[in-house]
Amino acid sequence: MAILYDTEQSLRERAAKCIEDDFKHQAIQTAQETFYQKRKALVEEEPDWQGLRTTAMDIRDHVAKNLDYYVKQFAENASNHGVNVHFASTGTQALWEALDIFENHGAFKAVKSKSMMTEEIGLNHVLEEAGVEVIETDCAENILQTAGDMPSHIVVPALHHTRDDIAELYRKKCGYDGDNVPEHITHFLREMLRPEFLSAQVGIRGCNLAVAETGSVTLVTNEGNGRMVDTYPPVQVVFVGIDRIVPTLESLDIFMALLPKSAVGSKMTAYFSVDTGARRDGELDGPAEVHYIIMDNGRHKLLDTEFEPMMRCVRCGACLNICPVYRHISGHGYGSIYPGPMGIVLTPELVGYGDANAKAMTFACTLCGACSEHCPVRIPIHDLVRDHRIEIVDTGKNNKVEVPIFKAMQAMWSSSPLYMALMRLGRPVMNILTRGGSSLDERSAWIPVLGSWTSSRDFDVIAPYRFRTWLAEHNAARAEECKREDGGQDQKGGA
Ligand code: SF4
Repeated sequence: MAILYDTEQSLRERAAKCIEDDFKHQAIQTAQETFYQKRKALVEEEPDWQGLRTTAMDIRDHVAKNLDYYVKQFAENASNHGVNVHFASTGTQALWEALDIFENHGAFKAVKSKSMMTEEIGLNHVLEEAGVEVIETDCAENILQTAGDMPSHIVVPALHHTRDDIAELYRKKCGYDGDNVPEHITHFLREMLRPEFLSAQVGIRGCNLAVAETGSVTLVTNEGNGRMVDTYPPVQVVFVGIDRIVPTLESLDIFMALLPKSAVGSKMTAYFSVDTGARRDGELDGPAEVHYIIMDNGRHKLLDTEFEPMMRCVRCGACLNICPVYRHISGHGYGSIYPGPMGIVLTPELVGYGDANAKAMTFACTLCGACSEHCPVRIPIHDLVRDHRIEIVDTGKNNKVEVPIFKAMQAMWSSSPLYMALMRLGRPVMNILTRGGSSLDERSAWIPVLGSWTSSRDFDVIAPYRFRTWLAEHNAARAEECKREDGGQDQKGGA
């Protein structure tokens, strides 16, 4: 499975590499600030943003509670419109279904629009192994495919590339001979991709939301490539996660009011398609044959657990856009195709804590809660991150070095005499370590465990006397002062 990548390196190593990359920081900072300001302005314009969030949450929860019903309804309605519906409980099954479709049609070329689900199962790689040429037609995805790179954001996957390196990339690999002006590069890309749309036998796409009452799939994009992918090739394969379903077209409306604003701070994206079935008699556009691969791949496991609210996620990326950790380590730091706060919650659920990287991700969070406040479907993301940590400890999968440390801390915080004794002992020890300074800083990075903290933060030396002593002295002095003032008043009154 391709959810996790770059697992040769630990999260710490990947994060350190990203932290050193000034361009990534600048790009992410600019993107986060732009999205934040644009979203804020639109949210302020919305008469009842909080009400919309609550309604969206309720709809998503209702679907999660009745998931089998809605998956069945969606599949039946799609079938009624001539769609070939395939069910895949795992990513591997989904890959087999896709390979079968290609084999049955003798297809050797596919154009593809952006789809996180296909990234999740490593579809491109498997198809290419089977001799199928897969062409990413989304601009950012094409950059990544050409560069052999991984996405760093779920909505803006090539955020970490500059216009200079994109121009250079196409010069080196595709014969581009222009400058670094984005319009010129996209014009080149358009010319390069047009023949591919016309010659591909299969179009592969994802689905932002699927509508149960009509069996329709939707596509929310800012480039026209999605529509080319779903209308030009004669065969269309749509990957639909079981967590993509909304009950009705009316409920879809609620999500369309929330999604573009939350994702990129736009009222609406340039393109929004609702596709229902294959081309009908008399219609000019559309594929002759449509396949939906409805995929679970671990999502069912979220149901009836504390992580069920994650089934609400509409993959808008708003939680990434506000996250201070994402800002520093970028999407690549996490090593999962689902990075940032939503990735921290989802990845371990999909791959399990048995994977060291998935487990480590749960600690790449400050629990500040900004993500939960921004989430359009009110997922309590930071609470779920904490739940992961609790579960890791409860199932004995935490770092064994932590156990005696936390036991010692528990003993210290539970016993006043022990706490006092350790504080008294701690001050001279810290004085020695700081050589008389006021705090432990990066010079104490050599100290095991504590060094991880002090390498980037100061740790103040224990104060020379207790706060309670200070407070008692302060109160006594204040009482004395009041007494003197009262005495003065009395004398004045007497006079
Ligand atoms: S967790 Fe919420 S904010 Fe993050 S991607 Fe999902 S819906 Fe958007």
